[in-house]
Amino acid sequence: MERNKECPECGCKEISKGKLSGYASMMPAYKTLSMGSAIIADICTNCGHILSMKVTRPEKFR
Ligand SMILES: [Zn+2]
Repeated sequence: MERNKECPECGCKEISKGKLSGYASMMPAYKTLSMGSAIIADICTNCGHILSMKVTRPEKFR
């Protein structure tokens, strides 16, 4: 389910999703042998502001 989001910087409602993976993936700081997790970001398509970032596998950081 996707809510309509609005950019707090410019008011644009066209929010798109980006994905960081590969070398930019988030690694657990204290588990050096883990694979880490890709990051999903909500990005304003007008000004480029990142509204939020989430890892796709939060359980890896427990
Ligand atoms: Zn914006």
